[in-house]
Amino acid sequence: MVAEVEDDRARQLPDIEEVLGGDVPVSGWSGSEPEIREALLKWYDCERRRLPWRGDPPPWSENKAKLRSEAARREFSKFFRLKAAPRAGGNVQVIDLDESAEAAGAFPRSAYGVWVSEVMLQQTQVEVVIGYWTRWMDRFPSIDALAAAKAEEVNAAWAGLGFYGRARRLHEGARYVMEHHGGELPQNIEDLLRIPGVGPYTAGAIASIAFNKRAAVVDGNVVRVFSRLAALTGHGKSPALHRQCWKLAEALLDPERPSAFNQALMELGATVCTPLAPACSRCPVRTACKAQKLAAAGTVTSVTGFPAKQASQKPRRHRVLALAAVVNAKGAWMLVRRPPNGLLAGQLEFPAIELDQTQETVVSTQAISCLRELLADFGLCCDLPLTTLGAPIEHVFSHEHHFMHVFRGTVPAGFPAAEPKRDVHWLTPSEAEEAGITSGLQKVLHGLVPEVPAKRAAKRHKR
Ligand code: SF4
Repeated sequence: MVAEVEDDRARQLPDIEEVLGGDVPVSGWSGSEPEIREALLKWYDCERRRLPWRGDPPPWSENKAKLRSEAARREFSKFFRLKAAPRAGGNVQVIDLDESAEAAGAFPRSAYGVWVSEVMLQQTQVEVVIGYWTRWMDRFPSIDALAAAKAEEVNAAWAGLGFYGRARRLHEGARYVMEHHGGELPQNIEDLLRIPGVGPYTAGAIASIAFNKRAAVVDGNVVRVFSRLAALTGHGKSPALHRQCWKLAEALLDPERPSAFNQALMELGATVCTPLAPACSRCPVRTACKAQKLAAAGTVTSVTGFPAKQASQKPRRHRVLALAAVVNAKGAWMLVRRPPNGLLAGQLEFPAIELDQTQETVVSTQAISCLRELLADFGLCCDLPLTTLGAPIEHVFSHEHHFMHVFRGTVPAGFPAAEPKRDVHWLTPSEAEEAGITSGLQKVLHGLVPEVPAKRAAKRHKR
């Protein structure tokens, strides 16, 4: 049963002016709003992807990327003997229950499931999220199950998705909802915005998609669709363009079916109005699209000129690191946890030091002496022989490019060890996987233990 539509629209809309500031003009598109809505919803009803958080039974929508990622995951799981530990169900806030779909293996459609999917989709393609989302829901099927989980369990379930602060905030959010709302997500924007980690986009997505409230949503896909539909100027990350898109999203929102409408708009951007190869010939809103008209008239060379490219992007920061990869006689590697905030918050890593980039040419001697000092903090006081793996392993984040010089050491049985001053985890590769492994750590492990797959597919493209 779909939740009732709220009558008071104004109460449900996020106060975008307040959130983003400024007054902005709204440009239009060719054609009337009712025609665009109808065409979009008709297309969505026929063409939408079958996804687990939409209450669809398997098989879920697949494409080549999904097949590739699943093949990589199978290979990965085989090596690591991946064991998902299902948890007790807890109280699930079900918003739609199709018994025949559930019997066919569907997850019940829940507000919590929508919340988790939206947070995951903010950083990764839908094909990758399907696997993470289903494993997450098996492990933490309800808000109370997530709230009761330990941070390490949450990290483990998120490992490989990147942007680890989002997992931490989701966890904090679940605890907040338990404390303030008895484990049930609120349905109005104001209360949703008070949940840690929930901003205007996520609040609008939960309110509209889960509860069918009249709340607009604007993500990167929606910005692209509106930029083209209304031939808007401004680059894709421009705050002015985003403000304009929020206005357009509110103006075009279908008053009766906001849930389907918002998903349709995002789906159109993800599957038809794509960044580089939009399929205009099969677009349901083609006749209303100003960019398409400008391209057909030869005024612009292509619709892909909307939104405009950002003039100059900040270059990634280069960081040079030295890692101590120390293994014991049982094949367990010495791993430590990163601080709870910042890049890769709370994730496992090899003990590492950052080197001045100018030290790169003399990295071996200086790095080894610095790493030995670091290892003393972890209980390895004697001068453990460390040998370099050779060329650094590179790993690229959104804003940083890491060059990791790896120094391997083997601790023989009976090697003298002192009481460590900091937490140390001695884990085999399969134990590390169960505890949660980042793609950077996996890359290094692959360099040390070739049987470990080099990659776990989790590309950083939204939806
Ligand atoms: S006609 Fe082309 S450019 Fe316009 S909205 Fe559709 S896919 Fe995008």
